[in-house]
Amino acid sequence: MRNSVLFFLVTCAAVAQEPASLGARAQRYLVDLIRIDTTNPPGNETRVAEYLKRVASANGIGAELLGDKPARLNFVARIPATVHSESAMPLLMMAHSDVVPADRSQWTADPFSAELRDGYIYGRGAQDDKSLLAAELAVMVELKRRGVKLTRDVILLSESDEEAGSTGINWLVHNAYSKIDAAFALNEGGASLDVRSGTHIFQIQTSEKVPTRVVLTAKGTAGHGSLPRPDNPVVHLAHAITALAAASQPVQLNTTTRRYFSEISKLPDYAWLAPLLGRLEQESTAGSAANKIEATDPELNSMLRTSATPTMLSAGLKVNVIPNRATAQVDVRRLPTETRQEIETRFRNIINDPAVTISPEPGQEMPATEPSSLTTELFLAMEKIFREEDPGALVVPYMSRGATDGSYLRQKGMAVYGVPIFVREGGESRAHGNDERISPGNLGRGTELLWKIVLTVTGG
Ligand SMILES: [Zn+2]
Repeated sequence: MRNSVLFFLVTCAAVAQEPASLGARAQRYLVDLIRIDTTNPPGNETRVAEYLKRVASANGIGAELLGDKPARLNFVARIPATVHSESAMPLLMMAHSDVVPADRSQWTADPFSAELRDGYIYGRGAQDDKSLLAAELAVMVELKRRGVKLTRDVILLSESDEEAGSTGINWLVHNAYSKIDAAFALNEGGASLDVRSGTHIFQIQTSEKVPTRVVLTAKGTAGHGSLPRPDNPVVHLAHAITALAAASQPVQLNTTTRRYFSEISKLPDYAWLAPLLGRLEQESTAGSAANKIEATDPELNSMLRTSATPTMLSAGLKVNVIPNRATAQVDVRRLPTETRQEIETRFRNIINDPAVTISPEPGQEMPATEPSSLTTELFLAMEKIFREEDPGALVVPYMSRGATDGSYLRQKGMAVYGVPIFVREGGESRAHGNDERISPGNLGRGTELLWKIVLTVTGG
């Protein structure tokens, strides 16, 4: 008797603690997730995976931890369809569990306390990517609690190591792909923001540039600094990086960027783009049109061509010694329509110096893929829901400069979308920056949007 009274009291307490609204639940999850420090390196994402599993199990959702490194496991949960249809492949919701390091001395709040101050929740991961993870978890729990009749399975994935080596998603793709295989996926990488004239833009990420790190090495003869030499590698390297940084890379559009430019040029803020669009399509005029775009908006230019940014230099040990070698690292962001070989050949021609060699920086290379389709049920559902949310808004597909784990799934044939459910507050992104934060209102509205999207494509 005593036991059952105790059980009754404990159950009441648990029910009383459970937030009533979807947004409040997402907020509680986000606070918990921020307080689990998963700074990568070292990551320790298993602690987030275990937290997710506890929430899933408490709500009767089947889940497992997967991977080959005990401290860096991925999390996968699934709610099976109730209405069976042969052709309906699952919906995947994904969000990475690691975060980039935070320099505490640069923050006004503890990055791992999830402090609520001035109307914001502060913490590393508040934007990238624990807010999305919290929203997805809240939606998953809501589906289960309401017993929604699903026409397809819904999978929740939280992968480790997105911010450094993408080893989490790679392990899953090679060892457990059937557990995450889906028709389409919702991922990070979208953006929801206001342009100056006040129009809101929902940018659905369907494509991304490919990080392609390159090392330039100049070789020459070592010698005394008092006698200048024509083969001094420091001088050859300096010429090479200057030539590469100054060169115009060729312009290429894909289905996503073509539609993006065409749509945004209809806004008053971007009316200046309209006369340039036809010129972008002609090989003879594309370069000069892109240069004009670059002068006004470098971010738009970055969607049109591969970029090459020298970022690290290394040469010499002493001021009076000419070294026999000098190296530079270049952060290349390649258009997904180009191959590494194509850009290396082009860079060799631009540098045009046999003393300088170009080689790939060792390490994992992300795949280059076609943009995800603009006609899937999921893309159309997002368009419809974002338009309902703000009838004056523009909903556009978008190619990001930054890379995500989405490319590994696009390579497998899955349509992956960066879903823009959270608004860029104050017009700024603090992802990877200091005092990263999100307001509870933004989190709540975003979670409601995600809920509507998921219901639309799962027949609920
Ligand atoms: Zn991220």
